Amino acid sequence: MMSQRSERRGIHLDQSELLCKKGCGYYGNTAWQGLCSKCWREENQRERQKQIQEDWALAERLQREEEEAYASRHQRAQSQPTITPFSKFEERKTKEKSSKVNTVTKFFTPSAKTPPKKDTTSFDTQSSPSPSSSSSRHPPADTDHATREFIDFLKPLKSGREIFKQCRAFTESMVYKRDMGADELSECVQDFYQNLSDRLQTQFKGSTEHVESVMDEVEKYMMTRLYKEVFCPETTDDEKKDLAIQKRIRALHWVTIEMLCVPVDEEIPEVSDSVVKAITDVIEMDSKRVPKDKLACITRCSKHIFNAIKISKKEAASADDFLPTLIYIVLKANPPRLQSNIQYITRFCNPSRLMTGEDGYYFTNLCCAVAFIEKLDGQSLNLSPEEFELYMSGQASPHWPQGAGASSPGSAALSQVHKRLDLLTGLGERQDRVIEKARQLESDLIDWTDEVEQKVQSVLESFPQETHNPTATTASGTTSAAASAIDSDNVENERLPPPLQPQVFAG
Ligand SMILES: [Zn+2]
Repeated sequence: MMSQRSERRGIHLDQSELLCKKGCGYYGNTAWQGLCSKCWREENQRERQKQIQEDWALAERLQREEEEAYASRHQRAQSQPTITPFSKFEERKTKEKSSKVNTVTKFFTPSAKTPPKKDTTSFDTQSSPSPSSSSSRHPPADTDHATREFIDFLKPLKSGREIFKQCRAFTESMVYKRDMGADELSECVQDFYQNLSDRLQTQFKGSTEHVESVMDEVEKYMMTRLYKEVFCPETTDDEKKDLAIQKRIRALHWVTIEMLCVPVDEEIPEVSDSVVKAITDVIEMDSKRVPKDKLACITRCSKHIFNAIKISKKEAASADDFLPTLIYIVLKANPPRLQSNIQYITRFCNPSRLMTGEDGYYFTNLCCAVAFIEKLDGQSLNLSPEEFELYMSGQASPHWPQGAGASSPGSAALSQVHKRLDLLTGLGERQDRVIEKARQLESDLIDWTDEVEQKVQSVLESFPQETHNPTATTASGTTSAAASAIDSDNVENERLPPPLQPQVFAG
């Protein structure tokens, strides 16, 4: 039993590998080096705190140096009043450095503590914010719709107006932070979520369900508005990663259901129906704007997968069946902007949704599936490294009909070589036949030409007899002569070929 298991490597993932490496019990994520959102943020903040301190120290040192430089420059100012390029450079450097420090500290200050300076619309009386108070740009219709829905949701809440004000102020402030790195933007949003949900927790006296429902609406409102700014931003290599995985999946087009040991029988109509639905759902993820809606696509996709396995196996699917099948579905779907979508969800989804529950579980599995696809090799598909290379390079394909006894991988490759040789031999034979036919055609043409020549000759031989008759050559001269010629040569004229024929062969 044990030995059998080690022989068949395939795709297997211990369920504990899905969990946070810190052992906190939440789901981990490859984007956070295997940590859950909570532990990652703790780690990250410690790092950032250190970075901030270092930045401050550097800024202070540069400031001191600048002051010293200024003092010594001031002493020399009497003789040389111009500022040297070097000190100018130093000055700029200090400015840049301190502005960086400011940015870093800025997003550590919880946005909730900095109340919006702008006067916000009272939505107690209006169903939508007045255009004058919202940003000067006209937001598209769908973000308008999101705003209206958000307001309608918040209306019955005691602190609804306050929540709306903060969310709007924060969202508007994000537009000015678009030059920030994606991780920093994510940090800002995650901080905002954290602060708001902490306060809601107090306000709703620990009713997690209530807090979650508000947070879902907050995420929906904010991310609908920020989507264009923060999805696959130019500051990241998300797009490059999208293209890489897309190319990788295309190169793996030959991978079969058997190689992945996927326990799904697509011959059963209900199963193939579920497979198609799963593929559609994972593709649909890209069309959603809100992280939660994207996650819902992954969850729907996963449920169709479980259904397909259940019907095929006639028993409940295990986690070991699920991951290979998910990999198979991703390979078949090649979902658009896969990495961008995963990154976007990781960065901007409400963290509690990723750390626990159904959505978190399926999302973690999808991340694992992508990681598997990136490092898929012959061994995990039960192929030899040579076969894997042959298939990857497109020199061979497992889809070609296999000869007898082609059950083992080695003989499968061999039978393909034979198949190719057969094809080549077949091609050679066809070529020979073509050449033979061409020769036949050539000799036929020669024969035909000879034949025609003979006929023409015989016609020409019969012709001089008529040329003795003067009326025939001058027939066109007078009508009466021609008429008499036709009368007299009636019998001979019938045997003459049509007038065009001699001309053709003469030329
Ligand atoms: Zn953790």
